[in-house]
Amino acid sequence: MTEMINQFLDKVQKRNAGESEFLQAVAEVAESIIPYIQEIPQYKSARLLERIVEPERVIIFRVPWLNDKGDIEVNRGFRVQMNSSIGPYKGGLRFHPSVNLGVLKFLAFEQVFKNSLTGLPMGGGKGGADFDPKGRSDNEVMKFCQSFMTELYRHVGADIDVPAGDIGVGGREIGYLFGQYKRIKGEFSGVLTGKGFEWGGSLIRPEATGYGLVYFVEEILKATGDSLVGKKITISGSGNVAQYAAEKCIERGAMVLTLSDSEGFIYDPDGIDVSKLEYIKHLKNTDRGRIKKYAEKYNCSFFPGERPWKIKCDIALPNATQNELHADDAMQLVKNGCICVAEGANMPCTPEAIAIFHKSRIFFAPGKAANAGGVAVSGLEMSQNSQRYAWSRDEVDNKLKSIMKDIHKICLKYGKEKDGYMNYVKGANIGGFVKVADAMLAQGIV
Ligand code: NDP
Repeated sequence: MTEMINQFLDKVQKRNAGESEFLQAVAEVAESIIPYIQEIPQYKSARLLERIVEPERVIIFRVPWLNDKGDIEVNRGFRVQMNSSIGPYKGGLRFHPSVNLGVLKFLAFEQVFKNSLTGLPMGGGKGGADFDPKGRSDNEVMKFCQSFMTELYRHVGADIDVPAGDIGVGGREIGYLFGQYKRIKGEFSGVLTGKGFEWGGSLIRPEATGYGLVYFVEEILKATGDSLVGKKITISGSGNVAQYAAEKCIERGAMVLTLSDSEGFIYDPDGIDVSKLEYIKHLKNTDRGRIKKYAEKYNCSFFPGERPWKIKCDIALPNATQNELHADDAMQLVKNGCICVAEGANMPCTPEAIAIFHKSRIFFAPGKAANAGGVAVSGLEMSQNSQRYAWSRDEVDNKLKSIMKDIHKICLKYGKEKDGYMNYVKGANIGGFVKVADAMLAQGIV
């Protein structure tokens, strides 16, 4: 079996040289799927895995714009349309200097499985640009978004491809992108999700990824008769996912000890409470400030350039970015008695770190299952837009809870090891694959 997996990965590597994040994501999926499809001849003969790793379409474009000084700046825009077998392409836009084709292909690939797990009719895609909104004025962000959409509008649409936010793309950016699409096309449609509530957005969408992550962790704990009450939690990141994961953990009686940004992490041994979290939201979303200000205000420690995994905790939630939790961090977490690691970010744990969690038999929830709440509520936003109707906060929250429960059940169905250990990576990969594979079989060689 290992030989078969290696041969497949060798081929993928040759065709996608240098795209390290994409190759990492494919390897993780291949290790679960290849043994599984050996038992199902029609999957094997249809060469589904070979087809699924090839994007249906990749669009790369120039994004020229004028900064506040009147100088011309040029960025590179992308949209990776990975798989549309179960619905229109769906997945976020990332604006960050580290964005390149390999990063977006990894994210689009993960998105295919994640979207399938939600049970909603959404294909997988991802896009973005190597633009850094940090330190830019609102006017510059608007100019950039308008130029970006001036090309992207040709390739997206409510029934074609529906982007959302991701790192560096929040409510402000979605607003500017939506405004430009509407102006060019002359139509008000559900072409983007994460919109403001007053103009077609869904309640709970901003909270959905973080809340959904915590609902998923609760399902894991429930299965062993445990709960979040009194648990010590370490979180990385302080953006959208981290803020709402922290909010839900606090609401559930857990103690949140850390948050971070790209400059370092803060450790508050007394726990971040509701009012301290309000300060963080204001600091990050309105002032667009740095997390170290929290340490100055609340007189606690700031660790420059570090990530929070050395702090003793019961549960760790990496919620910042890919490959931010390495083997040595994983060993430290296990040594400190951590019982569960759940990924709010996409692929924050390296393969070596995941292997340590599995070997130590602690619970490990991969992003494609644990952070699917965001895209799930995006799917619900699409449904509301189609109906021209808005559901109440409770209605959306209840649907989110039930989707996260169902994803947990799918993981249980496919992920149980012989010794009873729940391998959520295997469960999520196979569970996400089956629906896409069946749709691809039904639709022929396209
Ligand atoms: P935000 O831009 O709101 O926040 C990102 C956070 O991560 C910030 O605190 C940022 O710090 C930090 N960060 C980003 N890049 C790095 C880096 N290279 N090193 C250290 N810290 C970094 O993004 P989101 O919260 O939306 O996204 C976080 C993660 O969750 C991503 O992996 C994203 O793909 C994933 N995700 C998001 C979903 C959503 O609905 N938003 C849905 C599913 C997954 P700083 O401000 O200093 O850059």
